[in-house]
Amino acid sequence: MPVDIYIQKATDTRTKHAHMLNIKSSLLRTAFGWATFRMCCDIKREYQNHCPLCHNPYKEIRDITLDIKNPKQDPVYDKNTQWICGICNSKKRCHSQDEYISQQANINNQISLF
Ligand SMILES: [Zn+2]
Repeated sequence: MPVDIYIQKATDTRTKHAHMLNIKSSLLRTAFGWATFRMCCDIKREYQNHCPLCHNPYKEIRDITLDIKNPKQDPVYDKNTQWICGICNSKKRCHSQDEYISQQANINNQISLF
């Protein structure tokens, strides 16, 4: 697999998270340690291993996602981040407080339709 895929994955991940955090992606790189080379090395290593939460192997590069362990704290790379599979990441996201509240609101909306 060419190195370009890891660079692409690292920059895409940083851009996506910067968007979600509503900050510039350069800030993640300079202030929180989200350096491209460092991220590439980690993606490459993790891709050859498995998800640390469910222990399933990764099938495709897109299966690897970066999770911010505690969204209430600064997104310091490595300290408050972990590479996990997309399935675990979305399950975890479902259990965050905001998701839970909006899920409940959706359920209430659906109930009120009947
Ligand atoms: Zn997993």
